[in-house]
Amino acid sequence: MTEKFRVTYATLTADNEDLHAAYDKGLDEARSWLGATLTPTIDGVARPGGDAFEVTSPGDPSLLLCTVKSAAAADVDDAVAAAKRAATSWAATPWQQRISVLRKAADLISERSNELAALMSLEVGKNRLEALGDVEESADLIRYYCRQVEDNNGFVRPMEQLSDAEQTTSVLRPYGVWGVISPFNFPMALAAGPAGGALVAGNTVVLKPSPQGSFTAAKLAECLGDAGLPAGVFNVLPGGDVVGGLLVAHPDVAGLTFTGSYQVGMSIYRSFATSYPKPVVCEMGGKNAAIVSAQADLDLAAAGIARSAFGFSGQKCSACSRVYVQREVFEPFVAALAEKAKSVVVGDPTARDTFVGPVIDPAAVQRFLAAVAHTREHGQIVAGGNVIDGNYVQPTVVTGLPADDRLLRDELFVPFVAVVPVDSLDEALTLANDTDLGLTAGFFSADDAEVDQFLDRIEAGVVYVNRAAGATTGAWPGVQPFGGWKGSGTSGKAGGGLYYVQQFLREQSRTVVTR
Ligand code: NAD
Repeated sequence: MTEKFRVTYATLTADNEDLHAAYDKGLDEARSWLGATLTPTIDGVARPGGDAFEVTSPGDPSLLLCTVKSAAAADVDDAVAAAKRAATSWAATPWQQRISVLRKAADLISERSNELAALMSLEVGKNRLEALGDVEESADLIRYYCRQVEDNNGFVRPMEQLSDAEQTTSVLRPYGVWGVISPFNFPMALAAGPAGGALVAGNTVVLKPSPQGSFTAAKLAECLGDAGLPAGVFNVLPGGDVVGGLLVAHPDVAGLTFTGSYQVGMSIYRSFATSYPKPVVCEMGGKNAAIVSAQADLDLAAAGIARSAFGFSGQKCSACSRVYVQREVFEPFVAALAEKAKSVVVGDPTARDTFVGPVIDPAAVQRFLAAVAHTREHGQIVAGGNVIDGNYVQPTVVTGLPADDRLLRDELFVPFVAVVPVDSLDEALTLANDTDLGLTAGFFSADDAEVDQFLDRIEAGVVYVNRAAGATTGAWPGVQPFGGWKGSGTSGKAGGGLYYVQQFLREQSRTVVTR
């Protein structure tokens, strides 16, 4: 048997016939699922749900994917109650057993990667490799968290002794019911990752996925159920922002991971704790900068920046949306980036050669058009600037905007990148850091001293130097821990990193006097 071609976000091209044939087969399978009705799953049982909404494909809004019956308020109460009932026995399940179920779930996700990825392409518009990457990342996040628990021996450690008569053990213990609220743009990985971390740690989970990721989330739940996760340990509440709000406000939710926009994340961060402090991890937006030094390989820089600015239509939290370029190389760099923008293949995300699919919805198209109109007034469009059709827009490069322009501050979440000339690396770093956000950043230079200066000063949680596979994007579990600084993340501990699982646990110091 030939080994399966492994897709990560650093996979640049896939001329692999087997991969495409398998995805095409997965697409047929995913299409056979369309038209389903999804409802809340609580305690392993499907509920009727309340108000209905339809999920259609952003690439072809006439294609109905599924009808979702949103969780009603009573469903939120019941899901939290079911998770609370299941919490004691799940926490008491030996960690070896917990991780064996979760490893099985990860293997099922990998086994089903083609049909899951194809569904994701239809549901949120990711191209083949991005969708396969999202599915494989989901499996690898779960595997990595299993390994963390194993490597730390279940987080049980003997402590020092003050006398022979007593023994103390430090134990990390779960909190109970953990809420997970996920965004549309990584509809599987950012549900599976936080849920996986919570579950390996012994918490039970109530997931509220993004409405536009409802179908993918339901398929994730199927993998977890098929792996043998006991009823009540993982519950799904499909629905919109109101359902998320009910979950956040529920007093029996002991801890919460939210991934989404800065505005919503900050409001949840401020409101989650009521009668006493409760852990809340908010992973939020980015306004990620790349810096191009006069000492950079400009082709490499243009390749890495184009990939991060336009990949998944600029709808990654790690997307590159600002570039600061030393004036001496500004013109050739802009020309190289514009060339890349013009050569990107935009189209049906399920088609083999597509790099950029649609943006998620007409509101995103409007944000794109507003940014273009603003640029026509205050700067110049050097590539793109038009809507192609429906939710498809051109990858766009702009220049001439003042350094404090709103387009250099606000997260736009469309394939739109602004390039600004600077006189020095010092100025570039000052501008790159002049934001409330601090998720990712990239740097291009052949000069080691400049690289050190960048690494010392840049205020971002995930940084890359001279990376063609993505100037600011493409972290992988266990390789690049992924989390934001400042307004991009609340905990300072990154997903897919060494300190992530501990966030779902609280320490208990146990001293037992033996005689
Ligand atoms: P969003 O904030 O609109 O929604 C995220 C989730 O929160 C959805 O499930 C939504 O229904 C729910 N929600 C919205 N309002 C709520 C409320 N008041 N109470 C409770 N839940 C509520 O974000 P989105 O458009 O789905 O995702 C894109 C955003 O996510 C971008 O800002 C992006 O940068 C960010 N993001 C961050 C990371 C990261 O790791 N830092 C990763 C992916 C996406």
